[in-house]
Amino acid sequence: MKKTALITGITGQDGSYLAELLLEKGYRVIGLGRKASIIQPSSINYLHGKIEFAYGDLADTVSLVSAVKRFQPDEIYNLASQSHPGESWRLAIETGEITGLGAHRLFDAVREERPDCRIYQASSSEMFGEVIETPQTERTPFNPVNPYAAAKVYAHNIAHIYRKSYGLFIACGILFNHESPRRGMHFITQKVTYGAACIKLGIKNSPTYNEEGEPIVKDGKLSLGNLDAKRDWGYAGDYAEAMWLILQQEKPDDFVIGTGKIRTIRELCQVAFDCVDLHWEDYVIIDPRFVRPTETGPTVADAAKAREVLGWIPRTTFHEMIAMMVDSHLIRLNSALRPA
Ligand code: NAP
Repeated sequence: MKKTALITGITGQDGSYLAELLLEKGYRVIGLGRKASIIQPSSINYLHGKIEFAYGDLADTVSLVSAVKRFQPDEIYNLASQSHPGESWRLAIETGEITGLGAHRLFDAVREERPDCRIYQASSSEMFGEVIETPQTERTPFNPVNPYAAAKVYAHNIAHIYRKSYGLFIACGILFNHESPRRGMHFITQKVTYGAACIKLGIKNSPTYNEEGEPIVKDGKLSLGNLDAKRDWGYAGDYAEAMWLILQQEKPDDFVIGTGKIRTIRELCQVAFDCVDLHWEDYVIIDPRFVRPTETGPTVADAAKAREVLGWIPRTTFHEMIAMMVDSHLIRLNSALRPA
C-alpha cells in the first residue's frame, strides 16, 4: 500500500525537494502550510495536482491535531520553522514559538492521534553555536548563540524526551547549511549569487530587497556582513535524500549531515563572481548592519555516521551548486529584462 507522508514547511526550500523525492518513491504526499502561503502563487505551484495541500500553522495546535487525525500519515517531516538565524534576534519570540514550541505541538499531536507515525525533526548545525570541538559529530555538545539555535535545541531535546518517554519514533537530522536556487533570498548564498548575476547584467539597483528594505545590489554594490564567517555548505537536493534515509532506519536516531568541507563567505564571493568573470573585491562592501551580534562556528560536519549507517554521501560540489544558483538568477533576471 502507498505510504502517506506529511511535510510541514512545504513552501520552503527543503519542502519542495523532499516532496519531489517522495513522489518519485511512490508516496502520497500532503503538504502542510499556512493558508496565505498555500493559496498564493509561489515556488511550489508546480506541485499542484501532484501533492495534496492542507492548512496548518505550527502556532495553532488545533490545525496540527486535525491534519494528523485526518491524513493518518506514516511519516511526518517537520521542516517548518522561522528558519533564519540572523533574523532570529529581531524575531526572537516568534522563533521560540514556531521553531521550538511549534515542533513540540506537532510531537504532541502525533502522540495523541497517530503514535505509530515516524517523525523527522529538522535540527540544525546552528545548535553547535560557538563550537566546542571541530568537526562536529552527533556527540558534540550544543552551545547555541542565537535565538534560532536555542529554539532548535529545545525542539531537539523534546524530540529525545518524547522518544524515551513515550516510545515515539522521532529521528533528528542535524543538517549543516544547504543551499539551492530555491533558497530564501535573505540567506547569504542567495544574496551573493544574486548580487553577482545582477552586477554582471549591469543592474545597479536590484528589484529584490534585503532585510533592511533596500535593494540587495544598491548603486552597483553588494552589502554583506562578516566575510570571515565559516560554514559547511551542501546542496539541498542531496540533503532531502538524507532526510528520507533517516526515517527508514530500524530505530529513531540522530545524524549529522554535511559535506565536511569548510569555506568562508569570502570564498563564496570569489566562486560566485568567478562564475560571471568578475572580481568580487570590486563590488562587495561591508555593512555592520549585517554582522551578527555573536557568530556561530566554525561549523563543519563529521558525517561519518551518516556515511556508514545510511550510506549517504553528498553528490553535488560547492562549485556546481554556486554555478547552478548564479545561472538560475541570470536566467530569471534576463527574462525580466527582455522587452515583452
Ligand atoms: P525555509 O525555506 O525557510 O522554509 C521554512 C518553511 O517553514 C516555510 O515553508 C514556511 O512557510 C514554514 N513556516 C514558517 N512559519 C510557519 C508556521 N508558523 N507554521 C507553518 N509553517 C511555517 O527553510 P528550509 O531551508 O527549507 O529548511 C527546512 C528546515 O530545516 C527548517 O526547519 C530549517 O530551520 C531547517 N534547517 C535548514 C538548514 C538549511 O541550511 N537550509 C540547515 C539546518 C536546518 P511560509 O511560506 O508560510 O513562510
